[in-house]
This record gives sequence, C-alpha cells and structure tokens, in this order.
Amino acid sequence: MAADVKTAAIRCKSCNCRFDVPDGQKEVVCPECGQGWKMRWFRPGVGMIIAPLNWTQFQKEARRVQE
Ligand SMILES: [Zn+2]
Repeated sequence: MAADVKTAAIRCKSCNCRFDVPDGQKEVVCPECGQGWKMRWFRPGVGMIIAPLNWTQFQKEARRVQE
C-alpha cells in the first residue's frame, strides 16, 4: 500500500493567507495567524473552511480589530 498523502490548498478566512492542509483533515490551524478552523470536505482534495474552531475566541478577536 502506498502512503499517498494528498494536500489541498485553502485560504484562511482570518488573514487571507493560503496554506496546504492534509486531505480530509477535519480541523486545521492557520500557520500565519494561528486561527483554528473546522473543515468540510466535499470530495477528496476539495475542501473549505466552514467555521472557526472556537467561536467565542474568534468573536473576541474580531471585536478587538474593529475598535
Ligand atoms: Zn490565518
């Protein structure tokens, strides 16, 4: 059996940087801003961010930026 680990490029919704995540991984952390995200995978290699891992923390950060 070949260890065929694919990755998919996604864009962080917090800082807009692009990074690669292992195919099918349910939770990712942005290497640039450290924000954790929940992922949804439609099919192998095609995924998108659906929500922050921690809503409370995310909203706290967002409020701080607006001030
Ligand atoms: Zn980020």
